[in-house]
Amino acid sequence: MKLGIVGGGITGLFLAREISKKGKDEICLFEAEKELGGLSRSLREKTWRWPLEGFFHHFFTSDDLVKELLTELGLIDKLVYRETKTSVYSHGRISPFDNLFDFLRFPNLTVFDKLRMGTVLFLLRQLPYFGFFENYRASDIFPKLIGNNGWQEIWGRLMEGKFDRFSKEVSFSWLWSRIKVRSQQLGYLNGGNKQMFDLIAKQIGKNNRLFLDDPVLKIGPAGNSWLIKSKRRSALVDKIFLTLPLPKALKIVKDILPEPALKKFGKLKMIGALNLILRMKKPFLPQGTYWLNILDTGFPFIVIVEQTNLVDAGNYGGENLVYVGGYYSQEDPIFKQSAGQVLKSFSPGLKKINADFEKFLIGVNVFSDLCAQPIIPTGYSAIKPSLELIPDKIYWATPNHIFPWDRGINYSIRLSKQLFRLHQISAR
Ligand SMILES: Cc1cc2nc3c(=O)[nH]c(=O)nc-3n(C[C@H](O)[C@H](O)[C@H](O)COP(=O)(O)OP(=O)(O)OC[C@H]3O[C@@H](n4cnc5c(N)ncnc54)[C@H](O)[C@@H]3O)c2cc1C
Repeated sequence: MKLGIVGGGITGLFLAREISKKGKDEICLFEAEKELGGLSRSLREKTWRWPLEGFFHHFFTSDDLVKELLTELGLIDKLVYRETKTSVYSHGRISPFDNLFDFLRFPNLTVFDKLRMGTVLFLLRQLPYFGFFENYRASDIFPKLIGNNGWQEIWGRLMEGKFDRFSKEVSFSWLWSRIKVRSQQLGYLNGGNKQMFDLIAKQIGKNNRLFLDDPVLKIGPAGNSWLIKSKRRSALVDKIFLTLPLPKALKIVKDILPEPALKKFGKLKMIGALNLILRMKKPFLPQGTYWLNILDTGFPFIVIVEQTNLVDAGNYGGENLVYVGGYYSQEDPIFKQSAGQVLKSFSPGLKKINADFEKFLIGVNVFSDLCAQPIIPTGYSAIKPSLELIPDKIYWATPNHIFPWDRGINYSIRLSKQLFRLHQISAR
């Protein structure tokens, strides 16, 4: 059978690898960018030994499918978990936020607030997923559970930073999943995620075709087959797997989906993300902090992540690399700005945290994507798309298909496995 896969992120690549292992089908994989890896693709300066993911990336200890894949690829020894330091910037000061002791010393909550929040977080981490979680908005139920102070000082700010104007729509199931899986130790694949994508590409490329820099423009029926029309070519295939973000997938299938389906799926929203990457001669954050959540208002970013407090700066020619990140509505003008323009608007906020940083700045890069994070509203399981878009012919697997978990490489692999099983069943 001839199969078309659209999208060369982890979902598309993993699926292509599973199919090619069986050796029965012929695959054409189309990727719009010049590089594979999607949201986890990398950039590299000449002086760096390792490439760097454009968006900060790490793995949780619970990411079992990532570990399984890395084992099969012979890369598992390079996945190293480390204790990381997390802090928060609140009321104009940085406070460590790693353990119970830090939490108890956090100045902006009463002892009662802390005990209450600590107990709720502990219980939520123990609980399995319950269907009713998705019936509540996080912004309604969580303040009731942890108290208004805890919501206003910490969690409400985190939700606003992550979802911008959509923050009040997000279901409690999303928040539960974030609390449930986050681990104290964070893993990084030494050498970068690019190796994982390159190795997969090498394995599938032997008998199949990978087309880079070749966005698919549309697909349509052609007799008993399907025609994929991309920027550079046309291909006839028997089945198509769309592994790109849902709004982009809809553009490709808009001529073949009935209006009600287009309308229904068109309601599923995503938000964009932008990371400004600072290349510094000196560390940016104090005391080896890896992750700093910004809880004060008035900042145009929500998090600062110092990559070289997770892995050694020597891997990047001695440069200290720092992501300054935020999530923004897709129409936000920030997505049209150059790295210099973003730096200019971020600078006043950055100076509040490190007044002298500009003296040690070597350069900046910017990395952004309009489809970075699905918005999961209440009652999502009733509107969640199924993996089959046109039965037996066109399948899709996007971050909007991941539920109740948050999007992430581990869950993209899980989706790919499900797609592969569906393909096997329908090919019998
Ligand atoms: C800021 C940020 C931080 C993250 N941190 C982590 C983390 O720490 N750990 C973790 O596990 N996950 C993290 N993620 C999530 C993770 O990167 C994604 O869940 C995962 O990469 C999604 O893979 P995917 O293949 O499903 O989609 P994508 O990576 O979006 O891949 C889709 C691919 O389709 C291509 N495409 C789009 N349009 C077309 C077209 N018309 N034709 C052909 N190709 C097309 C795109 O170029 C892209 O390569 C993070 C994401 C962001 C935004």
